[in-house]
Amino acid sequence: MKKSIVQIVNSQTVRMGNVKIGQPIPQGILEEVNPFVLLHHATPKTMTANGPGFFVPPHPHRGFEPVTFVFQGEVEHKDSLGNESIVKAGGVQWITAGSGIIHSEGNPKSFIEKGGTLEIIQLWINLPSSLKMTTPNYQAFDTENIPSIVQHKSRINIISGEQNKLTGPIKSLTGITAFTVELEPEGISTFTLPEGHNALAYQLNGDTLFNGNAMQAKQLLQLSPEGTEIEIKASKTSKLLVLAGAPIKEPKSMWGPYVMNTQTEIMQALRDYETGKMGYLAG
Ligand code: MN
Repeated sequence: MKKSIVQIVNSQTVRMGNVKIGQPIPQGILEEVNPFVLLHHATPKTMTANGPGFFVPPHPHRGFEPVTFVFQGEVEHKDSLGNESIVKAGGVQWITAGSGIIHSEGNPKSFIEKGGTLEIIQLWINLPSSLKMTTPNYQAFDTENIPSIVQHKSRINIISGEQNKLTGPIKSLTGITAFTVELEPEGISTFTLPEGHNALAYQLNGDTLFNGNAMQAKQLLQLSPEGTEIEIKASKTSKLLVLAGAPIKEPKSMWGPYVMNTQTEIMQALRDYETGKMGYLAG
């Protein structure tokens, strides 16, 4: 049975410092697609050689998983666990903030020197109360380590979860499915998502029919938990991020860089960050 469409929403434009980014969730008509609580699309931006690049200085997270998908360009990550890595186009970095992590991210020196196009998605995946204070962790994989399925003028990249007996390299604590799907004109991609999981597709570019519904660039499509089958047909070169996860049936308190169950836990997170309990990272 095909998953049916709940709704299609347009991405809203928000400002982060001097950069405009697309934010399909949260917004007034769609607070979340539980457990996915925030999606930011930094649309393709050309960086001149030796320009300022982008850099987000050290900041904390607790209670969820911030994930960065790199579609174009390169992103360097440093964190309070001592991880330092550069993820290139097609790669992913998956942070389990758990009880607390401090990280910075931006373009690495090598990318700033030569310039180029940058396009990324940042996704916040909520964690249930039983995992909000779990040990923080960092996973990063480049495109060479992400298995893919080539179909009729299309490719599914399996970052997390499984398809056709292929398993993505990310070890998700909550059984999240994360695929990127690339299609050429006339491309067709068919796959399945778990029954009972909430699901969404965000279209970065192109023009598709998604289970028969017209989808355009910068739109997010929310799918029903019932059903498993997906069929995407492209009329132009198109790229999508497809996600599925079990909904978390708990209260949510989201403030700044924290996603907890209650406001008391948010206050505790603020105190714990200020007193150094989330670790340190030099700026
Ligand atoms: Mn962050």
